[in-house]
Amino acid sequence: METSGYDIVVVGAGNAALCSAITASEMGKKVLVLEKAPENQRGGNSKFTRNFRIAHEKGWNGFTQEYSGDEFLSDIRKVTSGISSSEMTRYVVDNSGEAVNWASAHGTKWQKALRSTLHLDRTNLFILGGGKALLNTYFRYLGKFRNCRIVYDSELIKMNVENNTFQSLTASIQGHNVEIKGDAVILGSGGFESNLNILREAWGDATDNFIIRGTSQNTGVPLMEMIRHGAASVGEKNDGHMVGVDARSPKYEGGIVTRVDSVIFGIVVNKFAKRFFDEGYDIWPKRYAISGKLIARQPDQIAFSIFDSKSWGMFIPPLYPPIVENSIETLADRIGLNPDELRKTVTEYNAACPEAPGFDFSGLDGHGTGNIEPAKSNWARRIDTPPFYAYPLRPGLTFTYFGLKVDSQSRVTDVSGNPFNNIWAAGEIMAGNILNNGYLGGLGMTIGTLFGITAGKEASS
Ligand SMILES: Cc1cc2nc3c(=O)[nH]c(=O)nc-3n(C[C@H](O)[C@H](O)[C@H](O)COP(=O)(O)OP(=O)(O)OC[C@H]3O[C@@H](n4cnc5c(N)ncnc54)[C@H](O)[C@@H]3O)c2cc1C
Repeated sequence: METSGYDIVVVGAGNAALCSAITASEMGKKVLVLEKAPENQRGGNSKFTRNFRIAHEKGWNGFTQEYSGDEFLSDIRKVTSGISSSEMTRYVVDNSGEAVNWASAHGTKWQKALRSTLHLDRTNLFILGGGKALLNTYFRYLGKFRNCRIVYDSELIKMNVENNTFQSLTASIQGHNVEIKGDAVILGSGGFESNLNILREAWGDATDNFIIRGTSQNTGVPLMEMIRHGAASVGEKNDGHMVGVDARSPKYEGGIVTRVDSVIFGIVVNKFAKRFFDEGYDIWPKRYAISGKLIARQPDQIAFSIFDSKSWGMFIPPLYPPIVENSIETLADRIGLNPDELRKTVTEYNAACPEAPGFDFSGLDGHGTGNIEPAKSNWARRIDTPPFYAYPLRPGLTFTYFGLKVDSQSRVTDVSGNPFNNIWAAGEIMAGNILNNGYLGGLGMTIGTLFGITAGKEASS
């Protein structure tokens, strides 16, 4: 393969990277895409996705209700205690519809949201066939450009940067180290969620019990290489989007089907059969980004979602079957908890649940517990109707927030605030500029698309 003469080298082949590669190819540039994964595992975390979050009016793309820009912005503010760049956040909200228009213009098709998902049908547009179908469409489209080459099994291992200018990169291509030169580079290589060594620095031995929900490829080498070259960072290394996933899931690549959605319907207990957080704090899309972190702080990073037959059928069941028993004590026995302790916890919780009926899953129902620690703010109803169900839970890391600081053109900036001359970043690697410590379901694809296009355009200009 040619090792020089490229206008743009794109690192990664997830959503953001492909949006950049397509944009640059459409602008007539000679593009090289380096994908670490083999071809049959291409596409990073993007291949596991299902939807985009967008502001819209009623009637747009089949939505039956409006989701205004102001509400979208206020949702972002709610999940992040601080927004690093309000200008960039406003840009994402105002242009979110454009991300969908661009994806549609490049062959993406959409579908109605499934019933009983995370209440996202008002705010998010669902991809027909999911992220994998979207990526396959983009890969096919890219295949039409004779000036664009995608090389698989190709891992960036070193960035060579001088005077804030990209010179070349070293990639391990099918096991051989190769130096590649280009006029500009766009990093679309995601976070470092698959790198257990870096995770261990932040989380210690708890890391051994983490499940990485997405790709095993996102080890953060391009990100850390840029930090080594003086790039400014956003977000914290010990923070990430973590949900409760089934403890029986594989270490990597379990994807969406291992997520356990039963949490808000009952209680969650640790290995001592004690509750440890407000399971009904908020509706799923805003809440679920942190439930995994709470489990990560429990002994042995194990927890159990417990509910009864009244809730079965109210959420999409995960891949693995629940553990089902006719009494709380036998259920405890099956999942390795002390039966007396679990009985005590359930009895106390039941006594704190309101007498009056009022459970309403269509929104925050204010149907909270009385005097109990921790309280459950919404959807509190007794666990009293057999059979009783349990799912074992582990922290499921979706992605990390730590990333590269970029300017509004998606150019990577250094610690003094100056942009690197020819280095751009798009997608999860820079999403922390907007979501530095929280997450809103569907925003990752919107951010990746918008800044992928921006980086592709700017690097080609
Ligand atoms: C199970 C799951 C479900 C999700 N659902 C949604 C959803 O419905 N909606 C939503 O908005 N977000 C969702 N997300 C988050 C979403 O996946 C990310 O926000 C988004 O995909 C990030 O896109 P990206 O292109 O930045 O990174 P990725 O898609 O992860 O792509 C990174 C690419 O870089 C490559 N790479 C990594 N390191 C190197 C290297 N050294 N050299 C070369 N290549 C490298 C990888 O192989 C990969 O191709 C989900 C995540 C998971 C795990």
